[in-house]
Amino acid sequence: MLAGRLSEDPTRRVTLLEAGGGDWHPMLRMPSAFYLPVRHPRFNWGYVSEPEPHLNGRRLLCPRGRVLGGSSSINGMVYVRGHPADFDRWDTLGATGWNYASVLPYFRKAQRFEGLTHDETFRGAQGPLRVRNGALRNPLYGMFLAAARQAGYPLRADLNDNEQEGFGPLPMTVEHGLRASASHAYLRHARQRPNLRVVTHARVGRIAIAGRCASHVEALVKGRPERFTGKEIVVCGGAINSPQLLMLSGLGPADDLARLGIRVVQDLPGVGANLMDHLEIYVQQACRQPISLYRELGFIGRARIGLQWLVTRQGLGATNHFEAGGFIRSDASRAQPDIQFHFLPAAMQYDGSANAAMHGYQAHVGPMLSPSRGSVSLHSADPLAAPRIRFNYMAHAGDWAVFRAAIRAARQLFAQPAFDDVRGAEIRPGDACASDADLDAFIRQHAESAYHPCGTCRMGSDALSVVAPDGRVHGTDNLRVVDASIFPHITNGNLNAPTIMVAERLADSF
Ligand SMILES: Cc1cc2nc3c(=O)[nH]c(=O)nc-3n(C[C@H](O)[C@H](O)[C@H](O)COP(=O)(O)OP(=O)(O)OC[C@H]3O[C@@H](n4cnc5c(N)ncnc54)[C@H](O)[C@@H]3O)c2cc1C
Repeated sequence: MLAGRLSEDPTRRVTLLEAGGGDWHPMLRMPSAFYLPVRHPRFNWGYVSEPEPHLNGRRLLCPRGRVLGGSSSINGMVYVRGHPADFDRWDTLGATGWNYASVLPYFRKAQRFEGLTHDETFRGAQGPLRVRNGALRNPLYGMFLAAARQAGYPLRADLNDNEQEGFGPLPMTVEHGLRASASHAYLRHARQRPNLRVVTHARVGRIAIAGRCASHVEALVKGRPERFTGKEIVVCGGAINSPQLLMLSGLGPADDLARLGIRVVQDLPGVGANLMDHLEIYVQQACRQPISLYRELGFIGRARIGLQWLVTRQGLGATNHFEAGGFIRSDASRAQPDIQFHFLPAAMQYDGSANAAMHGYQAHVGPMLSPSRGSVSLHSADPLAAPRIRFNYMAHAGDWAVFRAAIRAARQLFAQPAFDDVRGAEIRPGDACASDADLDAFIRQHAESAYHPCGTCRMGSDALSVVAPDGRVHGTDNLRVVDASIFPHITNGNLNAPTIMVAERLADSF
């Protein structure tokens, strides 16, 4: 995104180094195939966490896109900006000037909402990133929204305006049946520009820094060492790889770096700290009528969808299926919603595995504003080694109360009259799982990442912050970080839209 925006100025020369390859592959372009790259080594760094101490020592999957467009090329395409209070919180946490009023114009600048009919106060109409609502054709979406109303929640036409709380259509980043990744939206046309050079299969291992100045980047391009120089170097490796790269370059906790034999350029103890993520559970219900997507999940169903999409770019292949959702408070005393719902008219795992062998529907729910913090650190000084990722999920006592409230709220919603004609038995967690202790045991064994790591190079001005509010790494003059790692705090929603907002805003400051 940043390469696209910066190269709009023909007086600049921009080089983009990407460890992965190009993003033209049906698995990446077809929205309903979003579950395929989650485990695919060609497009994915394929990280796993350390054993998580509060989740029965399980190692959780941490997919990250390794391809042009990064994780936006393998994500679920749900477009959610976050609650206004999320950004006001950034401001109070030291990212001075990043309050909601100041970030809203950048959300709008990025966005082109398809089907814009009314108020442009919140929606953007001219940006490169296409966003649209799903057609909500499956009758289960209508039942879900009716059930939300029956349960007492407000229905909202736009979950991305300044209210957020309630239920409604969840928009998606899809353009004419194709995934609208950051690469699709910003790089596709920019690549024709003579002042933009895109180097794929270029794995950056170190940034050489002399004094306050980043002098060059060392990379392996298709396995061959190369150097790249520039007036400014911008790290956009994401919440796992950006702190890793800074540490490999001598910017990080001095003792840890010295122990691994890395020359310390600057003691920045906050690099890799403050790791946040969203955790979720699927509450699955059997459906007594044959109206869920179950029929389409078999080989023939998938082949039919794929063929229709290839020929027309329409049909069930052209949606991410997360067409409805919502935001609620775990407890009325909370100042803002802290639980998100994604509704899916099928009972299946995110990566397409372990489908329930029956018609069903499910809500993905979990705590969105957890105070638990983890870290990214180095196993070794080898730039090709994966970093150590420890999320420390559910470390805070309050996380458990919120998670239980989320599961119970999903059950309450599925129990509403709107589902009476179709409701079967609860598949997961299952009726027997009812007490706090049962729910906690279920969470420990089944909670999964929603794939939203952030915060590991956070903006601020205190001793544990890593970058200033303009993205510049403390103690350097020409090195910035621009990605989800600089979020001071996780947002109440999916992270792609706020990450693109961050890049839009910082592009203006070059
Ligand atoms: C499976 C999955 C589903 C998700 N679903 C959603 C969703 O539905 N909605 C939503 O809003 N968000 C979703 N997200 C999250 C969202 O996509 C990310 O938060 C966002 O894309 C992060 O952007 P980023 O720029 O910080 O990092 P990334 O998009 O991860 O980009 C980092 C880029 O840097 C490259 N890179 C890293 N290290 C190096 C190196 N050493 N040398 C060269 N290149 C390097 C990577 O290959 C990658 O291209 C999902 C994420 C995943 C993984």
